[in-house]
Amino acid sequence: MQIEPLREQLDTLLSEARKNEDKLQRFGQLEQKLMATRALSQLVNIILCDFRQSFDLDEVRLLLLDETGEWARILGGVRLPELQSMGLELVAHESRLLGLYQQPLRTRLGDYQAALHETMFVHTQSGSVALLPLVRQGKLMGGLHLASHDVRRFMASSGTYFLDRLSAFLVMCLENALYFDKLEQFGLTDALTQVNNRRYFDARLKEAVNHALRHQQPLAAMMFDLDHFKQVNDQWGHPVGDTVLQQAAQVIQTVLRGSDSFARYGGEEFVALLPGADSDIANDIAQRILLAIDSHVFNVGLAEPLSLTISIGVAGIALHNVGAAEEAIARQLINDADAALYSAKARGRNCVVVQS
Ligand code: GH3
Ligand code: MG
Ligand code: MG
Repeated sequence: MQIEPLREQLDTLLSEARKNEDKLQRFGQLEQKLMATRALSQLVNIILCDFRQSFDLDEVRLLLLDETGEWARILGGVRLPELQSMGLELVAHESRLLGLYQQPLRTRLGDYQAALHETMFVHTQSGSVALLPLVRQGKLMGGLHLASHDVRRFMASSGTYFLDRLSAFLVMCLENALYFDKLEQFGLTDALTQVNNRRYFDARLKEAVNHALRHQQPLAAMMFDLDHFKQVNDQWGHPVGDTVLQQAAQVIQTVLRGSDSFARYGGEEFVALLPGADSDIANDIAQRILLAIDSHVFNVGLAEPLSLTISIGVAGIALHNVGAAEEAIARQLINDADAALYSAKARGRNCVVVQS
């Protein structure tokens, strides 16, 4: 029996085993990192950046099917262009995604072929590629595309164990990020108007009063109530009323500043907090909101566009009231704004009343 060929075989096996061990370790580290994050933008960053580096890939692209704009919303406007330049692509139509992969959907390795892969990569023009369709509950949700200049890196004959594991893991992480975002949304955002809800507002109110007292800065609150809103529901039905509420929230928000807090207080009532504004400034802003609502044409899909007015109550906190408890001041502020709103209704609606 010849020893030499056997030894060579053994060496090859040993080196393969070491390579696999090393790969397993790096995959393990990547999985740990993915598991530790709940934010989608971080998740995408790890895949596009860390993964590419630790596995020495030349290009990584992550495609996510985004028919409803949900992923774009979660990723937020600011981070999105940056992630896109790193290799993220949000796909609006399932047909584009389905056109990329062969059936049955599974990980595929092979040489880079321009005719097949041109639209999947931006920088890659040669070498080898791995295409991992991401499937969630039997439905295609995206894809992970990996490229290397090395033609031997992804060979059609190679096993796909690690990559299969990675894609399954990634799907799970993406799904989790989606759930966490939804939980957060349900917690603090009003589902109908997509603005903050009362729970969020109450928490903000305490912080804002505390900040105002500590820095001796004014703080104003506004309460809004749409005029004769019940008539909209009675005449056109609740879905039309819902759309009016959504649009009214948008109109008010365009007048307020980013540092102001705005929330749906309940029904057709909204509330705003304006840090740094005293009653006079708040009155000016309220007048502008009044005009904005009055002149807004509510496009609700009816033959004739709807017009509506709003009543606004304004109040401010007394800064010299240092001794009083924060909570009592916060309660007083909202009560005052509410009382002012009540007066505005009594005065005939479509007006602002400042509580003095
Ligand atoms: P006022 O000028 O005195 O405020 O009159 P109003 O009709 O606006 O006041 P009222 O409080 O009597 O009616 C408010 C209506 O708002 C009653 C309720 O059905 C409606 N409403 C509350 N929440 C919603 C909602 O989420 N969707 C719709 N479509 N209607 C709602
Ligand atoms: Mg009301
Ligand atoms: Mg009303």
